[in-house]
Amino acid sequence: MGEGKLEGGLYIVATPIGNLRDITFRAADTLRDVDLIACEDTRMTGRLLAALDVDATLIAYHEHNAERSRPRLIMRMQRGESIALVSDAGTPLISDPGYKLVRACQDADILVTVLPGPSAVMAGLVLSGLPTDRFQFCGFPPSRRSARRRMLSGVAAIGATLVFFESARRLPACLADMADILGPREASVARELTKLHEEVRRGALDELARGYEDGPPKGEVVIIVAPPGEVAVDFDVDEWLRGALEDMSVRDAATAVAVEAGVSRRDAYRRALAIASEKPDDADS
Ligand code: SAM
Repeated sequence: MGEGKLEGGLYIVATPIGNLRDITFRAADTLRDVDLIACEDTRMTGRLLAALDVDATLIAYHEHNAERSRPRLIMRMQRGESIALVSDAGTPLISDPGYKLVRACQDADILVTVLPGPSAVMAGLVLSGLPTDRFQFCGFPPSRRSARRRMLSGVAAIGATLVFFESARRLPACLADMADILGPREASVARELTKLHEEVRRGALDELARGYEDGPPKGEVVIIVAPPGEVAVDFDVDEWLRGALEDMSVRDAATAVAVEAGVSRRDAYRRALAIASEKPDDADS
């Protein structure tokens, strides 16, 4: 049961990303007690509320009506109404609408508070098996290939684990570009988190890309990529390259080892060049 009438203001409420039972007690109470729930999609939130047995007034607040809707929401909160902001799933504002509404409330001295809970960012990161001490959330890479590759180049040097949202449909192409631009890093694809078919695939970026060559998976995915240098071409690959360089040119050694070790040709070539330059007589001939 909720605790009754809430103070006027904005309540940012995180909701489950797949498993309904991940709703928090506080979130359920607040959704029951607010005067109004602003949500991206009234049908989607309606289903959550039906499962919680909450009867509430819903209003749509999404990227297409936010400019028009925001002043009205602000006015209602100034009159003392309590409004919950929810997104379709997870934490509002995280690749979801709400940031400008929070600012507008703060500028108008309206109470803003948060009811933290599920987010695919944290769920994907903690299951990735990659370092969690520093991470950069990169949102959705652009869908156009050239823009996506530019975006990836822009984050390539960041010394932190990178977390990306992506649609399952674009996952294969995105992983292939990541392998090309971010290099031979370890990565994880976390799919259908908290749902029946939850899965985490781990491997080098190009291995992961090859794993989806036959087609994209179903469901929702988060891509998590190791920091640069954290898991670079590993010792074994360097050893293989050294062996191959004894009787092959740099180009041939790189191609042979890239195929064998499942790393990109470009990275194997770079490593092979570096190794060959350690001993000038072994350089490409
Ligand atoms: N605000 C939400 C949050 O905090 O989780 C994210 C909203 S964003 C529009 C939706 C993206 O989150 C999906 O495209 C996917 O990348 C990721 N996502 C959401 N739910 C997921 C799940 N159950 N498993 C994996 N990824 C998920």
